[in-house]
Amino acid sequence: MQNTVHEKFMQIAIELSEYNVKQGTGGPFGAVIVKDGMIVARSANRVVPTNDPTAHAEVSVIRLACQELGTYDLSGCEIYTSCEPCPMCLGAIYWARIDKVYYANTKADAAAIGFDDHFIYNELESPMAERKLPFIQLLRDEAMTAFKLWETTENKTDY
Ligand SMILES: [Zn+2]
Repeated sequence: MQNTVHEKFMQIAIELSEYNVKQGTGGPFGAVIVKDGMIVARSANRVVPTNDPTAHAEVSVIRLACQELGTYDLSGCEIYTSCEPCPMCLGAIYWARIDKVYYANTKADAAAIGFDDHFIYNELESPMAERKLPFIQLLRDEAMTAFKLWETTENKTDY
């Protein structure tokens, strides 16, 4: 039973998440991107079959939608994800300029079955010197050359 068009799209994301588990092709996550009431792209989590730790359902569906629409800007699109996005996917959603996020399972639900991204949120809130992941700055002056070049280059695509 589908009450709203939003639930219809979410149901597809949920079906992708279930199918992924049944097929043994990855984690129980699915996502759909919709523009003007039409599905642009759909993907399940693809981490294991592609050996790509960034191939979460949301990042994967963003890549597919951008290919489909021929743009890096998904303004005007909405994402339906079977689970509240992790920090990486949330960042990708912001970078893609997606208008709205619909989610089903919460990050607490994901943590309860072993997909816990809480440590990343903790890291983000911690000062760099206190993070578990060491951050060491090197060669800033040398790296600044490309930034200065960008600033002074006329023929570039601003994004
Ligand atoms: Zn993610």
